[in-house]
Amino acid sequence: MIFDFTEEQTMIQQAAREFAQAEIAPSTIQRDINAEFPTEIVKKLGELGFLGMMVPAEYGGTGLDTISYVLAMIEISKVDASVGVIMSVNNSLVCHGLEKYGSDYIKEKYLVPLAKGEKLGAFALSEPEAGSDATKQRTTADKDGDYYVLNGIKNWTTNGTTADYYLVMATTDKSKGHKGISTFLVEKGTPGFGHGKKEDKLGIRSSDTCSLTFENCRVPKENLVWDEGRGFNFAMDTLNGGRIGIAAQAIGIAEASLNAAIKYSKERKAFVPPFPIFRRSNLRLQTWL
Ligand SMILES: Cc1cc2nc3c(=O)[nH]c(=O)nc-3n(C[C@H](O)[C@H](O)[C@H](O)COP(=O)(O)OP(=O)(O)OC[C@H]3O[C@@H](n4cnc5c(N)ncnc54)[C@H](O)[C@@H]3O)c2cc1C
Repeated sequence: MIFDFTEEQTMIQQAAREFAQAEIAPSTIQRDINAEFPTEIVKKLGELGFLGMMVPAEYGGTGLDTISYVLAMIEISKVDASVGVIMSVNNSLVCHGLEKYGSDYIKEKYLVPLAKGEKLGAFALSEPEAGSDATKQRTTADKDGDYYVLNGIKNWTTNGTTADYYLVMATTDKSKGHKGISTFLVEKGTPGFGHGKKEDKLGIRSSDTCSLTFENCRVPKENLVWDEGRGFNFAMDTLNGGRIGIAAQAIGIAEASLNAAIKYSKERKAFVPPFPIFRRSNLRLQTWL
């Protein structure tokens, strides 16, 4: 078995590395301190094709393989894990799900601008009382003529205030448990759709995370993604792809941390005489002199 990267994969890796060093690195620390969303960087990522990497060209994507995506995610996350998670959500949780399960209408209207990076996506599954156990969705979607009416709250939504299109899981038939959950594409600005304050996180602060609120929010029935009752399957399948992106992000963070630690260990001067030592025999502090 050959594990070498192809020429194309190596080129993508190099392009992501150069972009990350030149365009992202200079502002990483300040944006993290200020919890500032990298608007211009995300725009450029889209123009370079990094936001719809695995979507076929006919739907506005770059049409690359998963390895290329992982290599790009690692390079971006080495420099800025916030940009990594923004990129991962759009690629894995939003574009992938729409490409696989969206109707032609949804692909044309929503996937194309998302894959081109003209619009940004978010994925809203978690709720205040449905985190690890996502089967316990409380957000509801009741059919009313040509619309579904959404009510409820979502938590921890990455790209929560900055996205244009949101994939929202909601219960259409409570009696069916997790088989009664469906997925909807909700556009920013739809009446009844709002968001809470940005979370003040300990890390990846440049990525915005917030709650979403739905109060009698009317979503056209064409925006149902896949069939009614398939929302849980949709979420689990897209999250499988999401784990690849987040694992790549973790590799990038780990590699950058290791490199920084090695560099620092070579620069730091410590324990050169004179310095205090403990003698094992009596644990008394002695000095070298
Ligand atoms: C920065 C950030 C970004 C996020 N982005 C998104 C997003 O874009 N979209 C989205 O939908 N969600 C998002 N999430 C939510 C994330 O996926 C949830 O936090 C996660 O699903 C866990 O849910 P919870 O926080 O409610 O924790 P809980 O489910 O309440 O879990 C709390 C603790 O209990 C443990 N636990 C849970 N169940 C059990 C059990 N049965 N037995 C023993 N221990 C258990 C867990 O391991 C955990 O340690 C994000 C979260 C963060 C922090």
